[in-house]
Amino acid sequence: MSKNKSSESVKVVVRCRPLNRKEESNGPAGGIVQMDLRLGQVILRNPRAPPSEPQKTFTFDAVYDANSKQRDLYDESVRPLIDSVLAGFNGTIFAYGQTGTGKTYTMQGAWLDPEKRGVIPNAFDHIFTHISRSQSDKQYLVRASYLEIYREEVRDLLDPNHGNARALELRESPETGVYVRDLTSCVCKSIKEIEEVMNVGNQARAVGATDMNEHSSRSHALFLITVECSQPGPDGRKHIRVGRLNLVDLAGSERQAKTGVQGERLKEAAKINLSLSALGNVISALADGRSGHVPYRDSKLTRLLQDSLGGNAKTVMVATLGPSSQHYDETLTTLRYANRAKNIQNQPRVNEDPKDALLREFQREIARLRAQLNHRKWRSKQKKEQVDGEGWDRDGDEETEGEEEEEEEEVEKDAEEYVKLEEQRLEREKEAIREDQFLLAEEKQRLLGEKERMMGDLRKEQEATEQLTAKYKAMESKLLVGGKNIMDHTNEQQKMLEIKRHEIAEQTRSEREMQQQMLVQDEETLELRETFTSLQQEVEAKTKKLKKLYAKLQCIKAEIQDVNDEHVRSRQELEQTQNELTRELKFKYLIIENFIPPEEKNKIMNRLTFDPEEDQWKFQPLVPAESKSSQMKKRPASAVGYKRPISQYARVAIAMGAHSRYRAENIMFLELDMAPPNTATLDRSTEADPNQSPSMDNSPAKDKGICKSRSWCQTPKSITSSSSNVSLAACHTATSTAAQ
Ligand code: ADP
Ligand code: MG
Repeated sequence: MSKNKSSESVKVVVRCRPLNRKEESNGPAGGIVQMDLRLGQVILRNPRAPPSEPQKTFTFDAVYDANSKQRDLYDESVRPLIDSVLAGFNGTIFAYGQTGTGKTYTMQGAWLDPEKRGVIPNAFDHIFTHISRSQSDKQYLVRASYLEIYREEVRDLLDPNHGNARALELRESPETGVYVRDLTSCVCKSIKEIEEVMNVGNQARAVGATDMNEHSSRSHALFLITVECSQPGPDGRKHIRVGRLNLVDLAGSERQAKTGVQGERLKEAAKINLSLSALGNVISALADGRSGHVPYRDSKLTRLLQDSLGGNAKTVMVATLGPSSQHYDETLTTLRYANRAKNIQNQPRVNEDPKDALLREFQREIARLRAQLNHRKWRSKQKKEQVDGEGWDRDGDEETEGEEEEEEEEVEKDAEEYVKLEEQRLEREKEAIREDQFLLAEEKQRLLGEKERMMGDLRKEQEATEQLTAKYKAMESKLLVGGKNIMDHTNEQQKMLEIKRHEIAEQTRSEREMQQQMLVQDEETLELRETFTSLQQEVEAKTKKLKKLYAKLQCIKAEIQDVNDEHVRSRQELEQTQNELTRELKFKYLIIENFIPPEEKNKIMNRLTFDPEEDQWKFQPLVPAESKSSQMKKRPASAVGYKRPISQYARVAIAMGAHSRYRAENIMFLELDMAPPNTATLDRSTEADPNQSPSMDNSPAKDKGICKSRSWCQTPKSITSSSSNVSLAACHTATSTAAQ
């Protein structure tokens, strides 16, 4: 990897926790980890090796032993990173190590004990204290999100239905790099609020942990804080810097073979290991710098940390160790991992004026609301002055900000006064109308109504203004202004103390760096400084050097042996996993080949495609979206909302809510004609036209005979729809036939 001017390496610090009670009771074997705090070195003793074997030494940016305090680690190794984030850089802190070695302790710690608060709560304090102490021309917007990666699925811990929510997708944009789509992000105005966000997420994690044993040591947790800061630049325009901070608590790095899991659990383990081994591969690829391809895409974790490893970010890795001799192998692996990560080069740069800054949107919205509000208030003021008869003209457009603010206040007061005066005036006028004896009662009522309406309008106007003001204030309160918003509890002394502590931490760091450099230089220049007076002396010196080099050679040989052993072990593990998976594959094949008809299988197989983005097989839709002609036929419009196409007649019938049996059917229900027989006496003497039907008489039977048959839906009420005409016509025919 080419080193350019702006590149800097990943900072790696190592922390060893104290022996716990169980380990202490296991015997006097003691720890296998020794630390040289001054030089930043970890010396590891192999409990199984003969004492003659040289111990392994690793050098890091800083080391923290069992007695180290949370505060020391923060001040020395994390504080500078958070300062960078506040200046607009991306920053990442991740804790890596075996389960139970103190990753969560380092990242979160015990919240209630100020001595034991971890990196995350200290970072909250740091960020909000910084904002409260910065200049008042700076505006800040702080957002927080919390997610976990479990079984290669990204889950939002702030989503209220976290348990049932589906996994989130990762997306990539040229502006912000890889991000999680639809991730909840909460605007936080104070330490209390951001702690609340953290608590909500932790509870969601805890619930998951009870569902699945050991959940938390199997999932990776990421807490993301975005700090946007706007400040007027020399060009007079407001510039926005966006710093993103990732706080990562990784899953336990122990080998799964040791935990002896099988079947379903093995697959789960394989998935966790996939993320961690992908992380290892990414670190290796970046560290040796020879392989051009970095396999970020192999897991969700590495994609999310893409910028933090070899990209635009400053990164601190905290490798955690246990001192117990039982876990020598794990400890060695962690140290190797950490040692490799030291060589990764990042290219951090300040994120200046990105297009997607939320702060900009907030500022625009606030300005818009403010303009609206001002307009309303000016209007009221103007009206007031008209009422007062003053006549209003605004002279002199060039006003300073202070004047403007004062004027605004005045306008606000005027507007309020106007409303009050106007109300009083209307009230007075109403009273006058009521007492006026010359007005007619009707006229009085009308005038009073008018005044009432005017008052209503006034109130509505006022309410709208109040709503607008509330919205404006809510929006504005989300932005934190430097030197305001947060009460600064710390007095000057405390501030000084913090500065001093910062200086001390800085000093320790540079001292250590110098010591390390001196050590390296010493080795190089030793031989140059030596001058040999005799051959004998030269031989002695050379022998000494030879011995030293020989010891080094032995060290490296042992190292090679170790690495080989490690590779063999991991290969065996992979083979075991592969065997397990092959067995399962055979099982599935057996079922498919014997119990699924081949044509069905082919049909399904033809529809499947692999989505590399989501790492999943997906069904293609049966009807391709683009070919419109072959799309499924639409149902006829007449059938919307019904089981099948239905006539107007039946629809009316349904609306009338009659016979339920024939609902939605086009059936006409004809009642039997129950009319009594027509018994008109025939007057034979006046034998008239024999063709003339008796029903043509204007006798009462005329009414009785007609329309006895009736559709089931017809009620005596008149029906105006076309269907009633049809049925009436039918009646008519029915009666005339009956009559004949
Ligand atoms: P991990 O998250 O790596 O699985 P934890 O952070 O849960 O491990 O730590 C396991 C236990 O060890 C906890 O009880 C924690 O309090 C304790 N512990 C870890 N590191 C330290 C430390 N530096 N000092 C004191 N106790 C520690
Ligand atoms: Mg943990």
